[in-house]
Amino acid sequence: MKKHNYSAGPCILPQEVFEKSAQAILNFNNSDLSILEISHRSKDFVAVMEEARALALELLGLEGKGYQALFLAGGASMEFLMAPYNLMRENGKAAYLDSGTWASAAIKEAKFFGETVIVGSSKEQNYNHVPKDYSIPADADYFHCTSNNTIFGTQMKEFPDLDIPMVCDMSSDIFSRNIDFSKFGIIYAGAQKNMGPAGTALVVVKEEILGKNGRHIPSMLDYAKHIKAESMYNTPPVFPVYASLLTLQWLKNLGGIPAIEKINNAKADLLYTEIDRNPLFKGTAVVEDRSTMNATFLLDTPLHTDTFNAMLKEAGIVGLPGHRSVGGYRASMYNAMPLESVQVLVEVMKDLENRV
Ligand code: PMP
Repeated sequence: MKKHNYSAGPCILPQEVFEKSAQAILNFNNSDLSILEISHRSKDFVAVMEEARALALELLGLEGKGYQALFLAGGASMEFLMAPYNLMRENGKAAYLDSGTWASAAIKEAKFFGETVIVGSSKEQNYNHVPKDYSIPADADYFHCTSNNTIFGTQMKEFPDLDIPMVCDMSSDIFSRNIDFSKFGIIYAGAQKNMGPAGTALVVVKEEILGKNGRHIPSMLDYAKHIKAESMYNTPPVFPVYASLLTLQWLKNLGGIPAIEKINNAKADLLYTEIDRNPLFKGTAVVEDRSTMNATFLLDTPLHTDTFNAMLKEAGIVGLPGHRSVGGYRASMYNAMPLESVQVLVEVMKDLENRV
C-alpha cells in the first residue's frame, strides 16, 4: 500500500504523473527513445516546453495579459537573486515582507543589490503570523512577499494593491487557490511542491516591468534573455519540465484551480477542526493566517510523542515531523494529497485521545 506522504517538498505528486513520467523515461511519445536521451531542441520536447509554459499561464488566468512563463533551473532560491537583479535600480530600493525563513533568505540576497526595506516582520513571534498593516515606500522598485510560509504554516490571505511591481514567492501554494494573479509582476515557485519534481522553478513575468533598472545582467540571470529564447537559453531541466507539464494537465482535467481549491479547503478544514477539538493538540499559527497547504501543530505534552509517532508509523503516515525551527508536526497537504489521507491522520489523532 502506498504511504500517506505528508512531506513538505519534494512531496506527493499525482500517481498518474509518476506512471506517465516513468513511461516517458522508457519510451517517450512512442518514439522508442527515452525523454532523457532526446535533444531539448527536438520537435517533441519543444512541444512539451511550449505546452507547459502556455498551460501554466492558462491555469493562472494570465493568458494574453502580457505575461511569460519560464521554467528555469536553480530552484526558488535562484529567484531570490534574479528578482532584484532584474528589477532593482543601481542605488535603488526594494520593500520586503519578512514572514518566514524563506522570506528572510530572499531579503539576504536583495541586500547585495541595494537598500532593502523590511516593511513588516513576524520574526519576534517565531513567524506564527503574517505581518499586517505595513506600508510600502512609494519609491521602492518593487515589493516582495511570500504567499505561503512552508515552515511556519502561515499563508497570506490578502495582497496589497500597488503601483509598483509585486513579486511573490509562491513555492508552496502555487496552483492551490484562487488569487488575482494579475496583481503580480513576478510570481515564482520551485516545482517540487504543487508542480513536479525538484530541478526547475516556474517563473511568471509581466514583460513590461523588465529592462528598466539600467543594470548589466549576466545572461543566465536575465529574464528577458530567457523569454527571448522561449525558456531554452541553455539546456533546460527536461525531465522536471515534462513531469510538471503532466501535473498541470492533471490539474486542468480536474477543473483547474477552482476545483482543487475546494478540495484543499476540505482537507485543511478537516485537519484544523481536529487540531482545535482534540485536547492533545494545538496549532502553532494564528488561526486567521493558517495555511491550507502546511498545517503546523504540537502535542500538548512530550509524554505522548513516542505513542503518537508509533501510531503514525502503523497507519503508514510519513513526512509529518515539523521543521526544527517549530518542532512538533507539520502536515503538508499539497494538491496531490487525497482527502482520504487526511482522514487517516485525523483518525490517528482521535485514536490517540482514546488511548492515553
Ligand atoms: N520558498 C519557499 C516558500 C519554500 O518553501 C522553499 C523550499 N522549501 C524555497 C523558497 C526554496 O526553494 P528551492 O529549494 O527550490 O530553492
